[in-house]
Amino acid sequence: MDEKDMGTDLARVLVTEEEINAKLRELAEQIDRDYEGRDVLLVGVLKGAVMVMADLARAMHSPVKMDWMAVSSYGSGTKSSGVVRILKDLDTDIVDRHILVVEDIIDSGLTLSWMLANLASRGPASLEVCAFFRKPEAAKVDIPVKYLGFDIPNEFVVGYGLDYAERYRNLPFVGTLAEHVYAGAKP
Ligand code: 5GP
Repeated sequence: MDEKDMGTDLARVLVTEEEINAKLRELAEQIDRDYEGRDVLLVGVLKGAVMVMADLARAMHSPVKMDWMAVSSYGSGTKSSGVVRILKDLDTDIVDRHILVVEDIIDSGLTLSWMLANLASRGPASLEVCAFFRKPEAAKVDIPVKYLGFDIPNEFVVGYGLDYAERYRNLPFVGTLAEHVYAGAKP
């Protein structure tokens, strides 16, 4: 997917590639500093967090470990209900480990709230959240986010790991889709 497709499928770019890269460096530096001398396990939430997890880990200097969870949130259409099922659990036992959950986007916060309660019950030494995008106007629960990328408006966005029907995840920026994409029509 390149700028040409963006011109037809995307309505508006909300966060550019340059802004994403600058923010990754800033967050990586902060996380490196905060976890100095401690082993941190980055827990990514599939599939949306793949890009931010890979880029954040590469921007960090500390030796991190990574693990993944996949969850499905029952809901209608693009809205989650907070009723969550684990599709893929961690491979790692997290008792007494320092856990940093890396999430692509917090919308209502219901999915992450459930995940945090689930992870906390496993007895980690610490549990923090890095969320790359957040929609403050959509929040239904308050999630303590220690490392935040960007607050964005309450709109459906794609790119940088975020999909619409599995498309657009590999866009290096984040934007909103044009109406014709939802209508299934050609531009
Ligand atoms: P929440 O439980 O916070 O309402 O929803 C979180 C999940 O919904 C995210 O991890 C993501 O998979 C999906 N999601 C929420 N908002 C968006 C959005 O604007 N675009 C895309 N592609 N997915 C979203």
